[in-house]
Amino acid sequence: MEENITPYCTECGGKLKWDAKFRHYSCQSCGLTYTEAELSRALEKLYDRDDDEDEKRKQRNQDYLDWWTSSKKKK
Ligand SMILES: [Zn+2]
Repeated sequence: MEENITPYCTECGGKLKWDAKFRHYSCQSCGLTYTEAELSRALEKLYDRDDDEDEKRKQRNQDYLDWWTSSKKKK
């Protein structure tokens, strides 16, 4: 379980909350839900995107990468 990790919504940047009952993440801001597989795919899509004009987005991708890498290591 990784309930202590707080990932962020790939759509709006809101906090995602792990819902153990439904086994998915739900966004606290826009209500979007992700299963672990969906979140993984969404993050991979972000990595693939090479948008030099948007430094903020790049920084956020890096945050995702850090989070994702560390969450995998803990397993
Ligand atoms: Zn959201």
